[in-house]
Amino acid sequence: MEWLALVNKGLARVAKLVTHLGSCDLCLQEIYPTKRDECSSMGFICRYCLADLALFEQEKIKGDLLSWPAVKRALPKCQFDRLFVLSPYLYPFDTWLKQFKYQGRFQLARFLSKLLAREWLKYAYFDVTQPVDLVVAVPVHVSRWQQRGYNQAHLLAKEFAQQAKLPYGTHLLKRVKQNASQVGKSGAERRTSLRGAFCLREPLADGIKHVLIVDDVVTTGSTASEISAVLKRAGVEKVTLVTVCISLPQKC
Ligand SMILES: [Zn+2]
Repeated sequence: MEWLALVNKGLARVAKLVTHLGSCDLCLQEIYPTKRDECSSMGFICRYCLADLALFEQEKIKGDLLSWPAVKRALPKCQFDRLFVLSPYLYPFDTWLKQFKYQGRFQLARFLSKLLAREWLKYAYFDVTQPVDLVVAVPVHVSRWQQRGYNQAHLLAKEFAQQAKLPYGTHLLKRVKQNASQVGKSGAERRTSLRGAFCLREPLADGIKHVLIVDDVVTTGSTASEISAVLKRAGVEKVTLVTVCISLPQKC
């Protein structure tokens, strides 16, 4: 019955191809779905590479990097109240964020926001002291949007809100001032140049007390602080900044 074995082998190969989810972005091993395997739903890296990612241990920092004295010292004038970050700005996140931001590798929005939402739900969901009322993204100026064609923070925030089952305020914030690149500027220089860069498109709805701002990277925290100040002037009581990475500058 050699032919039967050949047929079965052929069918097994077809089944494998049909269920094959692609190759792991890091080790290039093929990813196959297995029962209750979260990598299957992400379909981007294999379970071994997922387990190897250098994620912050949220239980040790209580889901808030501002509870870490070194970070608190590095962000002395921050206007947000909590900082939830997935990972330091190291490989592979630094590579992924550059591919996402500058090369339009959009599948990363889904993967990174799923990872972010997984950690958020694991460590922050049970913080019921003040539930999240709204998720917003750091907006880009229309000229930047026209140039790049998308806003990476919006793509992340939209997916994150969906995964975390939180309301997303797509149009609430507007960037009215486009600044030159912030790269290499100190925190004080960034704060000065960002003054008046954001506004609300419409009055804040009643009952919005805790807002969560999503961005790809926090560096000096100046952008999120400026947005936090705008939100707090409009009546928001607590702002949480959620980012994929943190990359602290030498001078703040
Ligand atoms: Zn892998």
